[in-house]
Amino acid sequence: MIPSVFSWHHNSCAYDATLSIYMQYGTMTKKMDTVFRTMNEDLMTQLLNNFRVSNLGNTSLNSCRDKLRLRLQQICPQKFTWGQFTSILDLLECLLTTQTDTLQRSIQCDNNHMEHDVQLQNKNCLIETGSLSPTSVQLWMTNFKESIVRKCNYCMERL
Ligand SMILES: [Zn+2]
Repeated sequence: MIPSVFSWHHNSCAYDATLSIYMQYGTMTKKMDTVFRTMNEDLMTQLLNNFRVSNLGNTSLNSCRDKLRLRLQQICPQKFTWGQFTSILDLLECLLTTQTDTLQRSIQCDNNHMEHDVQLQNKNCLIETGSLSPTSVQLWMTNFKESIVRKCNYCMERL
């Protein structure tokens, strides 16, 4: 079997690299298809539908990619200008945006005093490591904690 690939067109590198991975995961299992569709219905449902049509031979992968590029250009023309270089990070931030919270963070000291009114929420599946340099994803997720410069208002311990 010959793998399906994208053909570079007008600086499509970021799209080609990212969508090649999406195509593999999104079309491999029903579960991943559902995960991607519910993650970001606006972009992902259309993209996966286009991949499905492409798998049937009714359109090309390049057409799927270019439809996404045009949609992203409508959403954010500063980041996704047709024919210009595109950041993979910007692309992933758009594709991995969700309707629901993926992460809630709070600020607290080592004595468990929590700063009120500080609930940082994240509606993206792209989670940055901040200043941490974990040696593995598992270690990072297990110890998902990072110090900040400020001190606790109650005990003056570091936050
Ligand atoms: Zn404290």
